[in-house]
Amino acid sequence: DELFLVYQPTFELQTGKTVGTEALLRWRHPTHGVIQPDAFIPIAEESGLIVAIGQWVLQQACRQTAIWHAEGHPIGISVNVSGRQLDRDGLIDEVRDALQDTGLEPSALTLEITETALMRDADATARRLVALKDLGVSIAIDDFGTGYSSLAYLRQFPVDALKIDRSFIEGVASSAESSALLHTLVGLGKTLHLKTLAEGIENDAQLTELQDQQCDQGQGFLYARPLDAEGITEFLSSNPAHPVLVEDHSV
Ligand code: C2E
Ligand code: MG
Ligand code: MG
Repeated sequence: DELFLVYQPTFELQTGKTVGTEALLRWRHPTHGVIQPDAFIPIAEESGLIVAIGQWVLQQACRQTAIWHAEGHPIGISVNVSGRQLDRDGLIDEVRDALQDTGLEPSALTLEITETALMRDADATARRLVALKDLGVSIAIDDFGTGYSSLAYLRQFPVDALKIDRSFIEGVASSAESSALLHTLVGLGKTLHLKTLAEGIENDAQLTELQDQQCDQGQGFLYARPLDAEGITEFLSSNPAHPVLVEDHSV
């Protein structure tokens, strides 16, 4: 029982309303203290343990979000899915089970998959994504712009959103090149009718630039740091949620 989740709010850039949270894994080690995912997820991926851990994350994140719904906060939940999980047909049953076991509406769940994981075995992935979409969940490409996406596949995958990596957000208010790159990525999302979300927004200048560029949603320390479940409950009482479950169908 040393693993736990924190949740980072995501928000609509134009209104500042909370639309959901991203579940982020932490390990509270008895002697080393809290360990960040970058330090242990690569090892869990190598050993294959990430499959069991990922299944636990799905269950836990859906269960907690169902509680927030019951408390009157209709927010979405995004869960990171590793390439190792996506390599297996079993993932589809695991997502279905998590929704059934917790009673969470499928439309509230987004699976985040990195570009690199998507492209590992593009044909098998495309097939699994179609099956996942049939469950009613959404798919987002995580860290978009840092991996190798085939644009042809991007069009073919049933993807709903692009999460633009924070390396593109960093210099966006100070450098014309960064701003132009961001413009291209947001434009690509619009052309493909995908929602765009900017990661790692840390200051007002970045937020203003992203609003000007018509990026849809954001996430970052400026709006909120990752919080434990209790912290999110508190956060939601002063930052009411946008009714994302209804709005999502326009995407
Ligand atoms: P990610 O999915 O891209 O998650 C976003 C990361 O950016 C999080 O780091 C978050 O705390 C951090 N972040 C958010 N806002 C800001 C900001 O304004 N500035 C900066 N500098 N950073 C910000 P975290 O929690 O350390 O997670 C790192 C990565 O670990 C995640 O990147 C994801 O790839 C992976 N990860 C986390 N939880 C899970 C999980 O349950 N399963 C899998 N497979 N991977 C996970
Ligand atoms: Mg993510
Ligand atoms: Mg990311």
